[in-house]
Amino acid sequence: MKIAIVGAGYVGLVSGACFADFGFEVTCVDANPDKIAALEAGKVPIYEPGLAELLDRSVRRGLIRFTSDLAGAVAGAEVIFIAVGTPSRRGDGYADLTYVYSAAEEIGRAIGASSEGHRTVVVKSTVPVGTGDEVERILSRTLSRERFGVASNPEFLREGAAIEDFKRPDRVVVGTEDERTRQTMARVYRPLSLNQAPVFYTDRRSAELTKYAANAFLATKITFINEMADLCEATGANVQDVARGIGLDRRIGPKFLNAGPGYGGSCFPKDTVALIKTAQDHGTPTRIVETVASVNEQRKRAMARKVVRAMGGEVRERTVAILGLTFKPNTDDMRDAPSIAIVRGLQDAGARIVAFDPEGEANARDVMENVRFARDPYECARGADAAVIVTEWDVLRALDLDRLKAALARPVLVDLRNVYEPEVMRERGFAYTPIGRVDPF
Ligand code: NAD
Repeated sequence: MKIAIVGAGYVGLVSGACFADFGFEVTCVDANPDKIAALEAGKVPIYEPGLAELLDRSVRRGLIRFTSDLAGAVAGAEVIFIAVGTPSRRGDGYADLTYVYSAAEEIGRAIGASSEGHRTVVVKSTVPVGTGDEVERILSRTLSRERFGVASNPEFLREGAAIEDFKRPDRVVVGTEDERTRQTMARVYRPLSLNQAPVFYTDRRSAELTKYAANAFLATKITFINEMADLCEATGANVQDVARGIGLDRRIGPKFLNAGPGYGGSCFPKDTVALIKTAQDHGTPTRIVETVASVNEQRKRAMARKVVRAMGGEVRERTVAILGLTFKPNTDDMRDAPSIAIVRGLQDAGARIVAFDPEGEANARDVMENVRFARDPYECARGADAAVIVTEWDVLRALDLDRLKAALARPVLVDLRNVYEPEVMRERGFAYTPIGRVDPF
């Protein structure tokens, strides 16, 4: 089977690499010529563990290629995935569907100009309910209805563990009302059924909404435990114990109960807001999600105030070392990372910022101003008046605490990921501030 994937970003590249690894013939298309040139030169434009090796293997087997020629890629493909970005529309928070619709138009023209044969167009991008109908309308301007089917197949992979998630997902959701499209999708995902991944078929609208419902639910879970963390701090309880205590209940489950600085990344912030907008438009507001989004937004700035408090209430002309910038470890993605609001909040209070991130520096430079970057955590801490762990990268999980303390001008550590233990840090001579825990002694 020949597959074309339009959009070679985090989702498109990982999907393409995995499909090629399963033996399909994959063409990845991207409108950004720099991205394609890098890929053709054997460079992977994003950081995702294992992706470079996987792509390299498929390139050598001749199963994956990269191009900016969408028409050429689509002409030979039986299945065409749309995996372009759907960012928040500037100003109002609705999902910006410009890229999806322009991809659909190009795909329609390309299929129209190519030989006969049925094509399946699969919307993998996260799109509001009803977008598949519009994609179908766009395609039918240039194609007769018998020539194509449109499926929704939202992606649930997590950056940082994307390949494992793609190959061994909790589930694959496919939305289509058309039997032929369903059969094609069954062939596409057959290799995964050997990994016992349930492929769940539903109608297109339900599939589209499932993606937003999943992200909104996860965002709610995180926000819930974050608020419990604040309550723990106020009452002397320990949020990690509370999380464990509730997580052992199988109706709740232990995952996604790590208190932290608020969720970020390229999905949760934009998807919660897009869901809120869709729900309002339909006269069925999702009040819980509205609250979650607003609580989370305020939390990031509150984390800057937490750092200021930990530094004695005054940070003007003081230096803060930020350890970890990406929204989570094992990615270089800086989109909507909480570190952005935290750094800005500290700068607004007059602090100087020096930062370290193992993979995110290049992207961070695009979204942060007046930040000095360090090559490692100790260089970052050198002479600083406090260090703040914002992202729990492996290299920050077992820091040489004596070295860190010696590097700092003052031994103040704010740990927004609860990597360390309060008792240990006290013994090591740190003024240590975790999340949702107080040192009982
Ligand atoms: P991305 O920004 O990394 O990649 C999108 C790519 O599409 C870009 O390289 C862009 O140049 C390309 N593009 C845009 N318009 C194009 C066109 N007309 N033709 C060809 N290429 C075009 O985005 P991403 O993070 O991979 O996300 C893609 C979609 O998947 C989004 O809807 C997102 O919400 C969803 N998603 C993302 C994740 C994630 O973890 N990143 C997880 C699940 C779902």
